[in-house]
Amino acid sequence: CGIVGYVGPRESQDILLSGLARLEYRGYDSAGIAVIDRDGALGMRKKAGKLARLRETLEETPLAAGTTGIGHTRWATHGGPTDENAHPHLADDDKLAVIHNGIIENFSALRAELQAEGYSFRSQTDTEVAAVLLGREYRVAGGDLQAAFRAVVARLEGAFTLLAMHEDHPGLVVGARRNSPLVIGLGEGENFLGSDVAAFVEHTRRALAIGQDQIVAITPEGVTVTDFDGNVVEVEAFEVSWDA
Ligand code: GLU
Repeated sequence: CGIVGYVGPRESQDILLSGLARLEYRGYDSAGIAVIDRDGALGMRKKAGKLARLRETLEETPLAAGTTGIGHTRWATHGGPTDENAHPHLADDDKLAVIHNGIIENFSALRAELQAEGYSFRSQTDTEVAAVLLGREYRVAGGDLQAAFRAVVARLEGAFTLLAMHEDHPGLVVGARRNSPLVIGLGEGENFLGSDVAAFVEHTRRALAIGQDQIVAITPEGVTVTDFDGNVVEVEAFEVSWDA
């Protein structure tokens, strides 16, 4: 339902949690974050219920500090509002974290295909199918996360904003969208992704709207936007005008 991503020099957990709080107006039933810590390890916490429950979980079992992260508030469509069904979903031996807004219509056929290859699932969600598929395609692509995204979006039907990051690539968050919104927030030495500008408007007013069927990669230094075939597309920046 709500999505936020961050790469930059600052501690990402605070930015993710405040971004998710600003997206609360959309409604949600679960929340979670994943962070790549300073030693390059991916950590994740997620919880059914309000953001306060996720904050409690983070106080009881803190995540190591890290400056690359993604956060999600879920409005369940496939699988009840449980801790396991909350996002992020992990794949590739828990080195890869994925969050998703929308509905993947052909998830059961994809899940059957992946199960036949020996992959197992921890949730009832359509999203975890995209996560496991991305993990498989990441290996096929020899560790190229954007190439893996292109292979995955070619297989998905329905509506999705997908964000992912991998332990092997600290300082990189990749996203894609079809029939579901995604916006980039441009900072100085840091960049943001959000399902809407509310996710990052307290940090920057400069934004890029991602077009239909596009893939975006953000690092602290820059932003790349391509179509689903990998062709670079030019995107125009705009100034967020409403009051935060
Ligand atoms: N379909 C996904 C799920 O049920 C994502 C729902 C959302 O947009 O929050 O987990």
